[in-house]
Amino acid sequence: MNILEARGIERYLGPADNATRILQGIDLAVERGQFLALTGASGSGKSTLLYLLGVLDRPSAGEVYVDGAPTSPLDDDARASLRNRKLGFVFQFHFLLPEFSAEENAMIPLLRQGLSEAKCRARAREVLDELGLADKARRRPPALSGGEQQRVSIARALANRPEVLLADEPTGNLDSKNAENVFQIFQTLSRSGLTIVMVTHDLSLAQRTSRQVELKDGRIISDTDHARAAG
Ligand code: ADP
Repeated sequence: MNILEARGIERYLGPADNATRILQGIDLAVERGQFLALTGASGSGKSTLLYLLGVLDRPSAGEVYVDGAPTSPLDDDARASLRNRKLGFVFQFHFLLPEFSAEENAMIPLLRQGLSEAKCRARAREVLDELGLADKARRRPPALSGGEQQRVSIARALANRPEVLLADEPTGNLDSKNAENVFQIFQTLSRSGLTIVMVTHDLSLAQRTSRQVELKDGRIISDTDHARAAG
């Protein structure tokens, strides 16, 4: 079963009589366990597609399915609940709350689910530990390096044990050493079975994923199965 699927997606922006077509006729099925890189020139529609797959935006036409279920019938609360249960997000900028510790930042999605504070704290510690941040859990983001901040944002995305991690240029704001570190975390997560969809303009990273889908002017122009090619 595909964990995410976009069928016949169109996305227009602007006034109806003069709309810009951002995405045109996108069909994309993401299988469980895939590590998919979305590539293409700036403005080709990568982020727009990622947000649609992540149920953060609604298509102008077509349907997005999560775990086989159509998302268009869901109201905003149901969509938020679906995201909270099944999806985790990492962005180019970490969007951590500076006045809260790393641990508290990672707890936020869990607190929203109504879990007890003790459970949220324990789970946040567990993920921070997995990401090599056990000794930094009490620090606030301004006291962490850029790479550590991004790892905390990954911990926050993983805290609710999502089925898919959606990432928009997660290494775009990092130096090459930290970018490699974050990418290796993604590879480890992928090997453990997590499905990942990552927007990147870094082709050397994209080539190390299991599948690369390239967009141009709002359409898919290539879809390469690296796993098959390698093996
Ligand atoms: P990418 O992630 O590949 O750089 P985006 O999905 O961000 O591309 O954007 C695709 C196109 O849609 C671009 O031409 C961009 O300028 C346009 N676009 C994105 N968001 C908006 C918006 N809110 N209003 C108008 N145009 C937008």
